[in-house]
Amino acid sequence: LEEGLKAVRFTELLGQERAKAQLRLAAAGSRLPHAYLFCGIEGCGRRTAARMLAASLNCERPDTAGDACGECRSCRKLARETHPDLVIVEPEAEARRREKGQNKADNKVDDKDEDKAGGKDGEGEGGGWRKGLQIKIGQVRELCRRLNFAPAQARVRVSVICPAGGLTEEASNALLKTLEEPPPRNLLILCCREANEVLPTIASRCQALSFAPLPAGLVRDWLVARGEAPERAERMAYLAGGSLSRAERWLAPEIWERRGEFLARCLSPAPLAAGRVLELAAELWPQTRQGEEKAANMKLIEALLETLKSCYRDALVLAAGGETQRLINRDAQEAVGRLAAERPAAITRRVDLVERAEAAIKANCDPQLALEVLFLGLAAV
Ligand SMILES: [Zn+2]
Repeated sequence: LEEGLKAVRFTELLGQERAKAQLRLAAAGSRLPHAYLFCGIEGCGRRTAARMLAASLNCERPDTAGDACGECRSCRKLARETHPDLVIVEPEAEARRREKGQNKADNKVDDKDEDKAGGKDGEGEGGGWRKGLQIKIGQVRELCRRLNFAPAQARVRVSVICPAGGLTEEASNALLKTLEEPPPRNLLILCCREANEVLPTIASRCQALSFAPLPAGLVRDWLVARGEAPERAERMAYLAGGSLSRAERWLAPEIWERRGEFLARCLSPAPLAAGRVLELAAELWPQTRQGEEKAANMKLIEALLETLKSCYRDALVLAAGGETQRLINRDAQEAVGRLAAERPAAITRRVDLVERAEAAIKANCDPQLALEVLFLGLAAV
């Protein structure tokens, strides 16, 4: 297989047997709804399944089971992500980030943008950082306009809106008419975690399809197949919480190695002094990094924050009398035990702080600033 090609056949989708069966049936029998609402956590295969459905619907030689051939012109374009009729609508910050990750030569214009976002949107409840995660009315209008033209090459054009929970109310309302009656040869797929993240008027116009979190065993085997040692793969699989994208991040050796040290510092009983906080943030996000290094660094930070959050979750489990068997971070049991002695309100406050930092970083704020705010906040709980 050529490097960087995306899977286009349902047989290559990990798990999700029920969703796969339904999509195959729909594709083969062309009993296709106007719109789907794919519900499931990030990294469980929703967007991959959308691409596979697009492939199946447009393949020149699909098999009788409703699967694409993977080799025809349409399949190849979808695998290379160059098909003009697979339309992805996502928050602008997300799209910029993806481009940046792919772009080997980072440029200074991007950095300027980032500084702006960080300075202006980094702080405050309901601050600008939320906006970076939204799908705005202009984007929806542009999509609707585009759908009024016939697809360029496809029999059925597939448009994916992800995350649909990011649709603003205005944007949702602008979508209603198209969602109810899309122009011919169009299929809309909205991805969300849970159906209640979108307006009821949106959900009622879509056929909902659930994607389950991937079983830890499947994720472990997937990691082992990529060369991870079984015991470590098992721990990583637990940390991934059913998400393949989260599991994949742990494959970078640096990320796993820094996890222990990071947890030791963040969970230490002695609060970090302000000076150390700034140092730690700068260490985690060296401003000198460029392009691909920056993207890798971003993954490191995301993984570390997730792991920290899962430690707080473990502490809540312990505090509620749960068994150590149920802990995700069994290797950090001592620190987690210490945390569990805190008031539950203090632990949830910490979870809150981590989630805010995650959202800010996702919305393209300066990670160093977001980390500083986080560590100072944690020290003050
Ligand atoms: Zn094909």
